Amino acid sequence: MRKADVIVIGGGITGLLTAWNLAEAGVDVVLLEAGDLGAQASGANAGSLHLQIQYPEFVKYGESWARAYGPCLGFLKNSLALWQDLSARTGEDLGVKLGGGIVVAQTEAQMALIRAKVRVEAAHGVETEILDREGLRAVAPYLSDKAIGGGFCAMEGKANTLRVIPAVQAAVERLGFTLLRHTPVTGIAAERGGYSVTTPRGAFQAGRVVNAAGAQAGKIAAMLGLVIEIDGFPLQVTVTEPVAPMIPHLIYSAAGKLSLKQALNGGCIIGGGWSAAKRPDGTLATDPVSLSGNMAIAADVVPRLGQIRALRSWTAWVNGTPDWRPIIGEVPDAPGFFLALFPWVGFSAAPMTAQVTAELVLGSRNTASLSGISVLAD
Ligand SMILES: Cc1cc2nc3c(=O)[nH]c(=O)nc-3n(C[C@H](O)[C@H](O)[C@H](O)COP(=O)(O)OP(=O)(O)OC[C@H]3O[C@@H](n4cnc5c(N)ncnc54)[C@H](O)[C@@H]3O)c2cc1C
Repeated sequence: MRKADVIVIGGGITGLLTAWNLAEAGVDVVLLEAGDLGAQASGANAGSLHLQIQYPEFVKYGESWARAYGPCLGFLKNSLALWQDLSARTGEDLGVKLGGGIVVAQTEAQMALIRAKVRVEAAHGVETEILDREGLRAVAPYLSDKAIGGGFCAMEGKANTLRVIPAVQAAVERLGFTLLRHTPVTGIAAERGGYSVTTPRGAFQAGRVVNAAGAQAGKIAAMLGLVIEIDGFPLQVTVTEPVAPMIPHLIYSAAGKLSLKQALNGGCIIGGGWSAAKRPDGTLATDPVSLSGNMAIAADVVPRLGQIRALRSWTAWVNGTPDWRPIIGEVPDAPGFFLALFPWVGFSAAPMTAQVTAELVLGSRNTASLSGISVLAD
């Protein structure tokens, strides 16, 4: 049986960054990944670095929900600061650009909701500027004439999803650590002084275990009889053919679900939480209704997109919690078993989720300081 100080379950961005932080602190860490590193949400996401409260959820769940979610904004703000250092830390250009994000409104009612959202954000240290029609036009001349204003959050941006996982993987491997791919965890048992973890490649034993299994984290927790409210939701994203630089911002719409940005190679990446279809065998396929709805909203906000061809759509499971709040920390009923789960915008949050998780595992952070963002610490 292989022994380690810490076992990290899941080789997405959260698990990889957590393992890296622990390895840098001199901890003997083993990472177990069911398939390939970053082959799930972490390698398939749209690459948006989000900070502001998502407009559709603000409208759907209301201001009291937004105030409860508020502490996550400080967490995300810290995470975006860590993103800005990640290229230097890995030694690779990860395409991190914080050009600002804009929620675009087409009606006065939408502007009123954006203002209400901005007030909640300001209470949590996130500055978002309200732009009128002229202000918006000056910042983003490529937007449709239907746009009457918007909310501009200067700290948001993008990263190149495809470059991140290989860069972090290489950094961990340079430290001499092995990341075990194709090693699915099939069982976990608590035993004196820690846990034994079963895989088809043999058993592993450690004093502490980190569950960073994303959309599958509920199944991992259930192996210890724990119930956590996290699940997988099928999403899809589309990229267009490359065009000349046009959109330096992360664009959202108050008229429908949209996240839109232009990658450095010129392709426009279009998503925003549109559902993918589930095949009878459980695998995912692009949903044509979502695809056309998503493209229609994108072209409504940026008319030029109507003349650009979509090249490719892809699908993946996102990890979601019902109230959008993360689940991070040591499980009170399972000492030494940690959850590292930031839902929906977990790519943006990953550097901070990993930092906090590593500090909790190392005992250098007090769980109480997470109050408000961790359901385990509430
Ligand atoms: C289409 C799409 C677009 C998105 N766009 C954005 C975006 O623009 N910005 C943003 O911030 N977020 C976005 N997200 C969300 C973001 O990608 C995720 O929240 C984030 O990647 C979660 O990372 P993770 O490492 O926690 O989980 P994952 O990337 O899901 O990694 C979990 C890993 O655990 C492994 N695993 C599962 N079960 C086991 C087991 N039994 N044994 C061992 N390993 C196991 C899986 O194979 C997987 O590799 C998007 C998600 C999707 C699906």
